[in-house]
Amino acid sequence: MKKRVMVIGLDCATPQLVFDRWLDDLPNIKRLVESGIWGKLRSSDPPITVPAWMSMMTSKNPGRLGFYGLRNRVDYSYEKMATANSTFVKEPTAWDILSRKGKKVILIGVPQTYPPKPVNGEMVTCFLTPSTEKQFTYPASLRDEVQRVTGGYILDAVGFRADEEEKDRVLKTIYEMTEKRFRLARHMVETRADWDFFMMVEMGPDRIHHMFWKYTDPEHPKYVPGNKYENSIHEYYKYVDARIGELLGAIDDQTSVLIVSDHGARGMIGGICFNEWLIREGYLVLKNRPDKPRAVEQCEVDWSRTRAWGSGGYYARLMLNVRGREPQGVIEPGEEYERTRAEVIEKLAALSDHKGEPMKTFAVRPEDVYSEVRGVPPDLFVYFGNLSWRSVGSIWPDAPETIYTFENDTGPDDANHDWHGIFIMRDAAGGDSLQAEGLNLKDVAPTVLSLLGVQVPSDMEGQVITRQSVSALSADSTGRG
Ligand SMILES: [Zn+2]
Repeated sequence: MKKRVMVIGLDCATPQLVFDRWLDDLPNIKRLVESGIWGKLRSSDPPITVPAWMSMMTSKNPGRLGFYGLRNRVDYSYEKMATANSTFVKEPTAWDILSRKGKKVILIGVPQTYPPKPVNGEMVTCFLTPSTEKQFTYPASLRDEVQRVTGGYILDAVGFRADEEEKDRVLKTIYEMTEKRFRLARHMVETRADWDFFMMVEMGPDRIHHMFWKYTDPEHPKYVPGNKYENSIHEYYKYVDARIGELLGAIDDQTSVLIVSDHGARGMIGGICFNEWLIREGYLVLKNRPDKPRAVEQCEVDWSRTRAWGSGGYYARLMLNVRGREPQGVIEPGEEYERTRAEVIEKLAALSDHKGEPMKTFAVRPEDVYSEVRGVPPDLFVYFGNLSWRSVGSIWPDAPETIYTFENDTGPDDANHDWHGIFIMRDAAGGDSLQAEGLNLKDVAPTVLSLLGVQVPSDMEGQVITRQSVSALSADSTGRG
């Protein structure tokens, strides 16, 4: 019988909910866990959708991919940024390799696949697609079928960072999006007889975490017991599990199934006004404060006296203003550059939270976490409170009294990403449940290739996950991660 691999991606599905809290309520996922290999999956640095899915499916670290987040500096000017879409991906993905080997692939919603590139098979692009008015399928002719089957495909829960009174609408959109995506997935699997590799990514878990986390997490500072949305995330996970069950009903038992996520989630306490902190510490100097809260790129910065500036996001990027590199650079490359980075790392590590407690903030140098550093990386990645706080990039008309904020400048959000996603694999042979330690998202692509009998390129960084490798890894899990 034909060997096939199905990968079901659940963006942001998080191990503490899937494995620790709710597994008994997720019968279809539980069945796979009980006969497969499962465990936490270490995300990329940073643990963000872009670059995480492409790091997973190329088995290359973000430094080698040359993009470090959704938005990246294009050059060393102060303001030029670009969104990393599929044209930024120069390394071959698992489906590129499979396509070349003549294997048939089906892709639905894998992040960073827009604009669509040719594959040996069919593709529906991802949440970064501007609208279904754009060409969002390969081949182009697939589009009409997608629209017909789904009654109007939903790429993403648009406007998901909504205010309180909009929550019902957002919830409804998330469900609708998920229902349509799984309906399309089932349709594709049932009507294409000859596929070898199927992969879909559902964005709903990420959207619902960011919008509803505070309602369901008793540890969250804004949690109110007995609130209307108390069970919203739990109910949604059960809904997704049922859709997975239907999809699994459409495949035979010779199909290996993987359920994976690109990163996890955790409660977010608040935000650190990163640029305001840099101003206080004397690294960033303004000519004038802005008329309203603005991004640093829109402020009148005195670059001749500025040594560093930062960006907002789930993690922060710190850029240094280096002589000969930035247009008005002031820091000498070499010794002064390294001294400045070391100084910032030390100051950030000493930062306390709003209650004066230690915060566990840390910053990393790109070259310390990547084997190669392509493109234009930030000079430091900063993780406030080890991702329990986010970075807020805005600069205010008046210097705020404190760098801690509990209102987000990009809309309501009460979850942050976390370092570990999930991995579940039930191969055709099945077996006993085997919990694995030390899995990395770069292991997914080589594992997929290996399951389909395709040789793993030697420059892939991950390992093939098998029952043997897992036993060996678990015995020596200290060396990875
Ligand atoms: Zn994600």
